[in-house]
Amino acid sequence: MGTIVCQDCNSTIHFFDDEKVTVLYGKCNNCCTEKNRKKSNHQ
Ligand SMILES: [Zn+2]
Repeated sequence: MGTIVCQDCNSTIHFFDDEKVTVLYGKCNNCCTEKNRKKSNHQ
């Protein structure tokens, strides 16, 4: 089982089949633009 996790908010974006446990980092829709990153600065 592989998982793609957002590197900004740690939410799970996607699962994919894999022989071992794999975690990849990406950006979810909420964090993919600079505009939204500035809006959610209060984390
Ligand atoms: Zn995110």
